[in-house]
Amino acid sequence: MSNQLKKFIAGLPKAELHLHLEGSLEPKLMFELAKRNQIKIPYKSIAEVKEAYQFTQLQDFLDIYYMGMNVLQTEQDFYDLTEAYLRKVAAENTQHVEVFFDPQGHTERGVKFETAIHGIHNALTEVGKELGVTFKLIMCFLRHLDEASAIKTLNEAEPFKHLLCGVGLDSSELGHPPSKFINVFKMAKQQGYKLVAHAGEEGPADYIIEALDLLKIDRLDHGNRAMENPALVSRLANSKMALTVCPLSNLKLCGVTDMANHPIKKMLEAGLVATVNSDDPSYFGGYMNANFESIAEPLNLSIADLTLLAKNSFTGSFLEQTEIDQYLNKIDQYVANFNA
Ligand SMILES: [Zn+2]
Repeated sequence: MSNQLKKFIAGLPKAELHLHLEGSLEPKLMFELAKRNQIKIPYKSIAEVKEAYQFTQLQDFLDIYYMGMNVLQTEQDFYDLTEAYLRKVAAENTQHVEVFFDPQGHTERGVKFETAIHGIHNALTEVGKELGVTFKLIMCFLRHLDEASAIKTLNEAEPFKHLLCGVGLDSSELGHPPSKFINVFKMAKQQGYKLVAHAGEEGPADYIIEALDLLKIDRLDHGNRAMENPALVSRLANSKMALTVCPLSNLKLCGVTDMANHPIKKMLEAGLVATVNSDDPSYFGGYMNANFESIAEPLNLSIADLTLLAKNSFTGSFLEQTEIDQYLNKIDQYVANFNA
């Protein structure tokens, strides 16, 4: 890739809308926390951990992901995890983040809901302020568990509602359609949460339709397989539904085998509000800039395409319109200066 394009991506103001904090756990921190909490992990070295990160499908990754999060025990651990993520993305000029965490991944192994949310939220507030990064926090329900467990989690979140912006749906998609979670999403909507869901990553386009019709989502996570259904593409474009696309994740989990075939350019051409995100950057090989770089050359993206992707990340965010406008102005200024 040209140095000029690389420089443009690096300086571009961006927002990240699809990031699992637990998926930003770098092997180095995993070892530190394992030692701090005297937790056994099945690896002897960082190199060995990285070697284990060879996936052929979503489930391969999830097995390691849940093992990795065992090292997170105390509020400080969650704080350190979140701080490390913020410092990484702030250095890449990511100025706003809407991040996920998986409460059930912690409460199921005996870590209290409040331990996780306090550690995460305190870091987002304190470190975000220091770095000039704004944030929203979204809790996801694990779709391989049943709806009763999701409802229990929603109830546990009640005292912390003021710290949360939305709820989402993640983990093993195939065999766990959105329709499994109609009630808990209805309850969350009544409580004023924004709604998002992973759909159409491995699962079929029908899962996206369910997420729209049955869960009434405000934003779609992944959504790649919408491209198989032209009527659905039109619907998503007309409703200006934002899609949080994750290029390196798609490559690493074999959703695409060659970035030259990644659907994001076709999404933009179809008028979809597609955005670029890192998903689980520690596991998939890169943060925001790496994700932009991974598609820029293979898809022959122009400065205008990259600018649109960055703008979409703010228009697709849950910020207030006045805040979105400020960020869009920043992007316009950046592009004008870059071209000058
Ligand atoms: Zn995800």
